[in-house]
Amino acid sequence: MVRVTVLGSGDAFGAGGRLHSAYLVEAPGVTFLLDCGPSILQALKRLGSDPGALDFVLLSHHHGDHFGGVPFLFMEFRYQQHRTRPFTVYGPAGTERRVQNLFAALYEQNASESLPFPVRYEELRPGVERAVGDVRVRPFAVPHVQELVTLGFRVEVGGRAIVYSGDSAWTEEFVTQTRGADLFLCECSTYETRLAIHVSYPEIAARAADLGCRRLVITHLGDEPLRRLGELTLECARDGMTLDL
Ligand SMILES: [Zn+2]
Ligand SMILES: [Zn+2]
Repeated sequence: MVRVTVLGSGDAFGAGGRLHSAYLVEAPGVTFLLDCGPSILQALKRLGSDPGALDFVLLSHHHGDHFGGVPFLFMEFRYQQHRTRPFTVYGPAGTERRVQNLFAALYEQNASESLPFPVRYEELRPGVERAVGDVRVRPFAVPHVQELVTLGFRVEVGGRAIVYSGDSAWTEEFVTQTRGADLFLCECSTYETRLAIHVSYPEIAARAADLGCRRLVITHLGDEPLRRLGELTLECARDGMTLDL
C-alpha cells in the first residue's frame, strides 16, 4: 500500500490556520516528502509521525512555504534523532544554495558546522526522469512566478502514480501528467480572484472531468476557497488527511 498524508494544506499565508505545504509519502521500503514547508516538524509530530523515517525530500520550488522547513529537519536530525544515514534534497536548480542560505539565516552557527549525517543535493530538471531507488520521479515545468523554475511531479512508487502540481497556474500539462494516475494533488489558492500564478476553484472545477486521475484532491487552499468549503464539490485536502492508494 502507498499512503499519502497531507501534512500541510494551507497557502503561504496560513489561511484558516492551516499548515504550510508538505505531503508525506509512505511506500514499502521508502518514506519521503513532497515539499517541506516551515511547519514540517509540527505537522509530523502532531500525527505521531517520526521525522527520522524520512529518506529524502522533493522540492517543487524555492518559495518559503514549500522549502522553508528543510533547516528545521536538519536541526531535528542533528539534535533529536542523532541521524547518521544520508538525507537527500532534490529540487530545481539552485536548491543547495537556497537551502544553505536559509539554514545560515536561521541557525548561523549550526550551518557553519558540518552535520553528523551526509546531506546530498541533487538538481532536477523538467522533463528529465530520475530513479531514486524504487521511486520514479518525473519533474515537469509548471507556470508559476517568472523568477523561479517551478516543478510539478509525477511520482511512481509501489505500483501507484501520484501527481503533485506544486504551485502553478492552470496548465494543460496537468491533463497530460494525470493520465492513469491514482492521485492528483492540485493546488487551488483562490476562488473569485484569477491570478497568473495560481489555480482558482472555477478553473479546476471546469476541467476536473478531463483529468485522467482516479482521485483529485485540491490543496494549498487560500481564504477564498476556504470561505466556501461547504459548497465545493471537489474533494478538499485538510491537514492530517491520509490518502491510501
Ligand atoms: Zn505556495
Ligand atoms: Zn510559490
